[in-house]
Amino acid sequence: MSCLFCKIIDGSIPSTAVYQDDQCYAFADINPKAPVHVLIAPREHIVSLAEAGAHHPALLGHLLWAAARIARDKSLDKGYRVVINTGDHGGQTVDHLHVHLLGGRALTWPPG
Ligand code: 5GP
Ligand code: ZN
Repeated sequence: MSCLFCKIIDGSIPSTAVYQDDQCYAFADINPKAPVHVLIAPREHIVSLAEAGAHHPALLGHLLWAAARIARDKSLDKGYRVVINTGDHGGQTVDHLHVHLLGGRALTWPPG
């Protein structure tokens, strides 16, 4: 298995856990772009949102729910952003589906 995030999820590469359950593992981004920058990844290896299948809607919803729960836990009361970079043009660099949760400062729009 060569997937970086699968190794993080199985613990063979260390990370700072933020939240976890039977479906997902959330951990601090190693190169944070905001005071709060958490990655929420499904335990199941799915390459990207583009590869999500017809049996995945509940899992995708769960990832968004986890993002909102973590945002509440971190008291991001002024708001936050949830991002799923997908493919080359989307800026995806790790080929294991993940949701970015960014917060703790005012974020600009649009992204580059
Ligand atoms: P992407 O560019 O694919 O949307 O997001 C990948 C994210 O993973 C980046 O924000 C990057 O900083 C983060 N990342 C890459 N390698 C590691 C790592 O080894 N550990 C952690 N915690 N984050 C990583
Ligand atoms: Zn993986």
